[in-house]
Amino acid sequence: MDAHYTKTTRPDPSSEGKTYSDHTLLKNTIHCCDQFKEFCKKFPSWSYELGRFTIIDSITYDSNTQTQINYCPFCGQKIKYKQVKS
Ligand SMILES: [Zn+2]
Repeated sequence: MDAHYTKTTRPDPSSEGKTYSDHTLLKNTIHCCDQFKEFCKKFPSWSYELGRFTIIDSITYDSNTQTQINYCPFCGQKIKYKQVKS
């Protein structure tokens, strides 16, 4: 499946002079299979910070670690990430 996203850089409100980037998955993204589509509805799998689909790798008391995925966990299709102009 193709995961096209736009990248927006904004000033970081918590530290002056710094910026952060928001990666937004295009709304018309077609998921490779219904299972992954449903999964993404139930769990926020897209990382705006990384611009990648992620799965939760480990959970601690105050945070969790996310691992980016390059293949669909359900049907195994490769996920092609591409940044597009907004
Ligand atoms: Zn799939």
